Amino acid sequence: MTSIRITAVKLHLLSALSLMLLMFASSAAVFAQQPGADGLGDRLYPRLGNGGYDVRHYSIDLAFKPESKAIAATALLEAVALVDLASFNLDLYELTVNSVRVDDIRAAFTREEAELVISPEAYIPAGAAFQVAITYAGVPQPIADPAVPWVKLGWQEWADGYFAAVSQPSGSMNWFPCNNHPLDKATYSFRITVPQGLTAVANGVLRETIANDNDTRVFVWEMQQPMASYLALVAIGDFVAARDDSGSVPIRNFFPVGASDASIAGYAVTGDMMAWLTELLGPYPFAEYGVVAVPGFPGALESQSLSIFGASGPADSVLLHELLHQWFGNSVTLAHWSDIWLHEGFATYFIALWREKQFGADAYSTFINALRTSAMALKAPGNPEKSELFAWSVYARGALVLHALRGEVGDETFFEILRTFYRENAYSNVDTADFIAVAEGLSEAELEDLFAAWLYGERIPDLP
Ligand SMILES: [Zn+2]
Repeated sequence: MTSIRITAVKLHLLSALSLMLLMFASSAAVFAQQPGADGLGDRLYPRLGNGGYDVRHYSIDLAFKPESKAIAATALLEAVALVDLASFNLDLYELTVNSVRVDDIRAAFTREEAELVISPEAYIPAGAAFQVAITYAGVPQPIADPAVPWVKLGWQEWADGYFAAVSQPSGSMNWFPCNNHPLDKATYSFRITVPQGLTAVANGVLRETIANDNDTRVFVWEMQQPMASYLALVAIGDFVAARDDSGSVPIRNFFPVGASDASIAGYAVTGDMMAWLTELLGPYPFAEYGVVAVPGFPGALESQSLSIFGASGPADSVLLHELLHQWFGNSVTLAHWSDIWLHEGFATYFIALWREKQFGADAYSTFINALRTSAMALKAPGNPEKSELFAWSVYARGALVLHALRGEVGDETFFEILRTFYRENAYSNVDTADFIAVAEGLSEAELEDLFAAWLYGERIPDLP
């Protein structure tokens, strides 16, 4: 690290001394220094994410005070420059930034809407690893995102004393500075400090709980597999942990104190679903799984290794849907938000497969026919606008894409396609073309027309 920084400083000095000399010395790198882009080219979210670097790891050290609802935090990002980086952006919504240090040297920064623009003292050469530490504080402000008009995103209080950050697609930047697009996955560690009596739950594995002298406790969580920023979750409240180590994947659930036995019992089928999905698709991608049930949370979201639900107890179909997302959504993740059917269509289709496994072929057909009826008049799911990302068409007609494919290629090839698509893209990013390529490769069939009709055709096709 040190030698790289010295090189950068030297180049700056040289450039100040003699531009002409450099031109003849062919030090092209000096002239290639550039600001990182303020987005990653996503058609629906052009300013989410940032170009010019790749985050490898986030260490988020965050103290929370429920009475003021304020956080005070330091985020340490370990990253690699992809170009000669003169300045670079992170996404951060509101909050007050107190200092930014790049490789432990104070760096200048400006704010422009949700962009935090950082100018290190010297440029960072392409290929160099660097660290950026941002110290910040404030009360997180929930984000209105047109993709999910029924809920605000990011860190917020859902019911008295229960806080959680729920972020798909854009909300994570309301509680930590990030490269806020699924294309830049990273590993995470969280050190969350809360008053004695509260529990902080986050993605991954609980490494340590530390009691401080000042009546606070620190919960240290670690997510060792790559994770998209929108899947980062912290939930704080008066939770009771329930752990089950009897299956191949440890399951740890967190329920609000006083949760009814009936609401807790609804999660008991998780182990059976886990065993079935593992057999069907390959090993569960993360070290542990579980849910956190947060009073007042109006829905469910598949945060990585820790799905979040409300407090009323889950429907089987929703439980299965969020668990399936750990494979398709969290491990295999879209490269562009407009390919959301690769998440939601898959998760919806697997409800049909679960019905088939539990109740037989008729139950599968009933479910598929209901999907088709409900999607008859809806738009094609393949290229939604932002306001349509989580529209029913994406779920229902997205699921029917897989049903149609199964009918075309037969069961054996179909399940091999799902397994192969998963295995070849685990912990990575994909688009629709990647899925079609696997399907055509394994089936040795020309499938462009089938996918075009189901994903983009104006009229819903007839079922095979
Ligand atoms: Zn979903």
